[in-house]
Amino acid sequence: MPARWIKLKAGVTLLKISVSTFRNPVTSIKALSLLLRQRKRLHGNKRDHKIVRSGNRYYWSIYTPGFPSAGFNAMIQQEIRRAFVPDTEDILLQTLILSISSRCHYRCEHCYEGNNIEKWEHLSIADLSKVLREAIKLGIPHIQIGGGEPMLRFRDLVRLLELGKDHMDFWLSTSGYGLTREKAWDMKVAGLTGANISLDHWEAEIHNRFRKHPEAYRWVMEAVENCKAVGIIPNLTLCVTHGMAREEQLMRYMTLARNMEIPFVRFLETRKAGNYAGKDVLLTSQEQSTVVDFYLKMNGSAKYRSYPIIQYPGYHQRKVGCYGAGNRYIHIDSKGNYHSCPFCRGAVGNIREMDLQEGISLLREKGCQLFKTNPHA
Ligand code: SF4
Repeated sequence: MPARWIKLKAGVTLLKISVSTFRNPVTSIKALSLLLRQRKRLHGNKRDHKIVRSGNRYYWSIYTPGFPSAGFNAMIQQEIRRAFVPDTEDILLQTLILSISSRCHYRCEHCYEGNNIEKWEHLSIADLSKVLREAIKLGIPHIQIGGGEPMLRFRDLVRLLELGKDHMDFWLSTSGYGLTREKAWDMKVAGLTGANISLDHWEAEIHNRFRKHPEAYRWVMEAVENCKAVGIIPNLTLCVTHGMAREEQLMRYMTLARNMEIPFVRFLETRKAGNYAGKDVLLTSQEQSTVVDFYLKMNGSAKYRSYPIIQYPGYHQRKVGCYGAGNRYIHIDSKGNYHSCPFCRGAVGNIREMDLQEGISLLREKGCQLFKTNPHA
């Protein structure tokens, strides 16, 4: 189906949701146009040229449940309410980032969990299932499962997918290690939508050095092919370091991703967390401008239609404030601690002491330490 028809169908769905939320046609149209204006401001480009199809659903973003689906409708309803109503206290959390493993075979230069990588697990499958049941009850439509390396806890991972698959979209954040065809198939059947696979450089040797593992690049390539073969959407995640924040480096990375037929690439900016705590890793304003210009050009121009859609949370954070700290998402680490996000540490409690709703409320009160949180943006 051509992209314009998908957009038209999605637009009609948005209008229906707005009407059923406000039960007043004038308010519904006002709320919807406010939301669309905000969206345009947020993305910075006049038009989106790209949509990804997986099975019978369509995706604009790795952070949004596929269209059409109940999760998509729930998320849109919350966004319409946020844009228009002053009280956002009871608004649903969009994404839960859940670390299920403390273990990892790699020792990456930038690892935000560098101080927490261990040889054993802290959370039992019962702990993890309890949190997931709470997330289902609250209606959270989107879960990112990470670690450590979540593939090292494969059986529990599959059990969690099976538990939540009728209620939410699952994305896996992985180095790709151990993601064989058989495991990809098991995860697809259990309900996995997409995989965020980390690739730090277009050149194998540099990626392996960064990850301190000789097979790291090979595993990325295998994981991507295995995900594509079974219908899991692959997204390459790049940690943009000083060395990568240059037009020619980013273009080589994107060309590799396009040649691998990857639909999404995510740019994450380096943060002073974990192994990078106290180091000179933050992008300079000149480097940030280079990445922003590149992002806007690649996503907004029809000339680059064949390249993957870039997701760049740092761009949005600077424009409209942080989406973490309970605004749209929170992070639960592999010990069960509630955090604003994977990079801003300072737990407000643990899943064994307080339920998910309480953790979310405390993080909302605390807010983000680095950026403002604006629930209406
Ligand atoms: S960044 Fe990920 S893959 Fe690398 S050491 Fe940390 S948990 Fe492992």
